[in-house]
Amino acid sequence: MKELKEAILKDGYGMGDNVVKVDMFLNHKLDTALLLKMGKKLHKHFKNNKVDLILTIETSGIALALATAIAFDSVPVLFAKKHKEADLNDIESKGEDYCANVYSFTHHNRNVISVKKIYLPQGCNVLIVDDFLANGEACCGLLEIIKKAGANVCGIGIGVEKGFQPGGMELRARGYDVKSLAVIKSIDGGNLVLE
Ligand code: 5GP
Repeated sequence: MKELKEAILKDGYGMGDNVVKVDMFLNHKLDTALLLKMGKKLHKHFKNNKVDLILTIETSGIALALATAIAFDSVPVLFAKKHKEADLNDIESKGEDYCANVYSFTHHNRNVISVKKIYLPQGCNVLIVDDFLANGEACCGLLEIIKKAGANVCGIGIGVEKGFQPGGMELRARGYDVKSLAVIKSIDGGNLVLE
């Protein structure tokens, strides 16, 4: 997506050789006009699917999920909550939540993510949306939750995919329709190289 690529090249930068910072428009300050356009682009790609719900993960996936939900005629957004240093079995044993373990690429820790069962009904058609795709851990956690709920996956919409990490390739190999609005090929001395 042209506008996103321009924003990445203008305001984004790399930290080390694998972290992309886009705080200026996606992860801290939010460029709302750009986000709404990104939501429309994801809608354009997935519009032939019947989408009942958009599922994302807190915190940074919520803005793009909301923009996408608006483009889908304001379907609801459900965001998985993160629980630091929690035990999946402790949360799941209460019977109210679907949970999965997710390793956080940015924080280098393992979190339990959860959604309340009542908000993710069986048979519901779910589009996953997230700001970044790196190793695919967050998406795999969300897919696990959707499976536990007996809901259906329409596809995976991503703002920025880091093409030099394996998440996108692995999810596509598993047969999921993954649409990324921009793909970063590499980080070269702090500069982002786009595909
Ligand atoms: P994955 O689970 O695919 O390894 O990583 C995706 C998640 O980690 C996203 O939810 C995103 O918030 C975060 N993330 C991964 N890599 C980056 C990055 O380079 N920059 C930013 N800002 N977030 C990232």
